[in-house]
Amino acid sequence: MGSNSIVAISHSDNLSGSPTDLNEKSLNSVAKLTKKAIDKSCNFINLVKDKTVLLKPNLVRSTPPNIFATTDLRVIYSVAKMALDAGASKVIIGDKPGWKKSARSVFGELGVDKIANLLGVETCFFDEDQLLELDLPASKVFNKIFVPKTVMDSDVLINLPKVKTHIHTIVSLGIKNLHGIVMDNQRLINHRNDLAYKLVDILRVKKPSLTVSDCIWPMEGQGPLNGRNIKNFNVVVAGTDVVAVDAVTCLIMGIDPSEVDTIRIASAEGLGYGDPKKISIVGTKLTRVKRHFKRPCISAAGVYSNVLSMEAGVCQGCLSCVRHSLDRLAFEQKMQRVGQITVCSGKHSFEKPELLPAKNEVWLVGDCASETSSKSLIGKVHRVPGCPPHIYELYNSLHKEHFDS
Ligand code: SF4
Repeated sequence: MGSNSIVAISHSDNLSGSPTDLNEKSLNSVAKLTKKAIDKSCNFINLVKDKTVLLKPNLVRSTPPNIFATTDLRVIYSVAKMALDAGASKVIIGDKPGWKKSARSVFGELGVDKIANLLGVETCFFDEDQLLELDLPASKVFNKIFVPKTVMDSDVLINLPKVKTHIHTIVSLGIKNLHGIVMDNQRLINHRNDLAYKLVDILRVKKPSLTVSDCIWPMEGQGPLNGRNIKNFNVVVAGTDVVAVDAVTCLIMGIDPSEVDTIRIASAEGLGYGDPKKISIVGTKLTRVKRHFKRPCISAAGVYSNVLSMEAGVCQGCLSCVRHSLDRLAFEQKMQRVGQITVCSGKHSFEKPELLPAKNEVWLVGDCASETSSKSLIGKVHRVPGCPPHIYELYNSLHKEHFDS
């Protein structure tokens, strides 16, 4: 890459409303904040005028009303309106939510359709779009990738991640948000320790022209789905280099960008600047908004008093499934009702199964645990297959066993 990247931070002490308030005052105050960051980071009119602009927010799934895990609708509104005002020939909002979630239903549940109708812009359900099969010659984990035609046909891709901590990838920011251009058939593969390489491969498919990160009510702790929102943090971060935007956002979160695999790998491969020394930060001073975001913890060992989590040579895919699932049970206040359980993930020798508590139900999570399990395991044994299983697969199985009958 040539000269340094520019990343803009904008902050407001007083922002009107919450992410669900779509009244005029609330929309306008977020629009002002978002515009400030975008205008400081690039020449927006040059970028979008007469172009087909695709907005890619994080619409992973609808969540309980008190958890905001997706991009603030007001940020989507703001960027879409700015693009229309700047003369974009077409503006489209598109995404494919999480595994087995249909875009049509999630767009409706989250109210994205409402925003699109308000502005008269289009929506694209990536899972209903024509898919193009592309070769990825420089990739590390994919030979081929299937990508919605609308993504490849757009002149300008604007990436709108929600700022969150993430128990698998430390953070969920701009690079991670692009996982949403991959369909279910490629979502769970390479979702282990190699996930960062997979995400950088996806970044190679189509680099966003602009990334606008929603850090208005970001999430800390057990993100991306079970963390805690920091209310009224009121920050937007923008820049044309997604790697640099992610790096600066990490600094805001009190995280060294070099700890984040996607930033390190993308930077090393010349896809952007992850080194803060090579980034010019403009707008609100970093010191003004920087704070310590509570870190996520991926291990479930010792977390819940009724759960013995045996994690042996396990990679992040299975760990993520176990922790996500248990955190969700705890969030729904069902944890104690599953009784005493032992959850084994990874490759166990099971040489001394008698050491496992005899009264516990045993749950073998992931193909490694199943393949290495011993016939002499004590207690009732359940299997959750997959490499890795989906993050909520253990939750679904426990639910079925204990609550659905
Ligand atoms: S099954 Fe084994 S290899 Fe696959 S994600 Fe789990 S621990 Fe990793």
